[in-house]
Amino acid sequence: CGIVAYVGERTAFPILIKGLQRLEYRGYDSAGIALMNEETHLYKCKGKVKDLELLVKGKEISGSIGIGHTRWATHGEPNDINAHPHQSMNNKFTVVHNGIIENYDHLKKELSNRGYEFKSDTDTEVLANLIENIYLEQKVSAELAVRLALTKVVGAYGLVIYCSDEPGRLIAARKGSPLVIGIGENEYFMASDATPIIEYTDQVVYLNDEEVAVVDNEHFDLKNLKNDIKTPQVQKVELSI
Ligand code: GLU
Repeated sequence: CGIVAYVGERTAFPILIKGLQRLEYRGYDSAGIALMNEETHLYKCKGKVKDLELLVKGKEISGSIGIGHTRWATHGEPNDINAHPHQSMNNKFTVVHNGIIENYDHLKKELSNRGYEFKSDTDTEVLANLIENIYLEQKVSAELAVRLALTKVVGAYGLVIYCSDEPGRLIAARKGSPLVIGIGENEYFMASDATPIIEYTDQVVYLNDEEVAVVDNEHFDLKNLKNDIKTPQVQKVELSI
């Protein structure tokens, strides 16, 4: 339902929590964040952003890269385990997802045959494992694994993905579910709409369908699923806080 992500030099946690609060107007049943440091800290629960803040109280919240999500359940009941972010079985990929992977059942069976086990009932965890399976078996970059996985997916998605082998980098993609990237100074903000971003920057790029963006300190690379390089169209956002 709602996505917010940050990569830069500030502490990600307050930016993510504030961003999730700004997305509350969309409605949701669960909330979660993943904070990446030397290791990834994952906090998620059924309920409100307030419940998530209580859950995180006193826990490790450092890290200047992170992703957050408010979930509106489509596959699997609202509970702590089905809340996003979801991690792949070998913890290589951490994923937040808006939308529906329509062929998740078929993909899940294929992955089960390859030894994959699933913790949740969500379509999103299937996608996380599909990306990881391609990444590990084909020994390709995280970005290429994401693109190859998305060519197998039927459905709609707004996605932000983190690969633990490529720290400091976030991958975003969309099809049928909006995703906007805010460009700051040595920092990027990602969200399902511009409301969590506008207090930090008015320079944004709206992803088009079937586009995949890779951002880190040095890069903003944009491609479509066919591997054509795209030039990010930077716009001035027209929203007021
Ligand atoms: N289909 C996903 C799920 O049920 C994402 C739902 C959403 O857009 O929040 O977990």
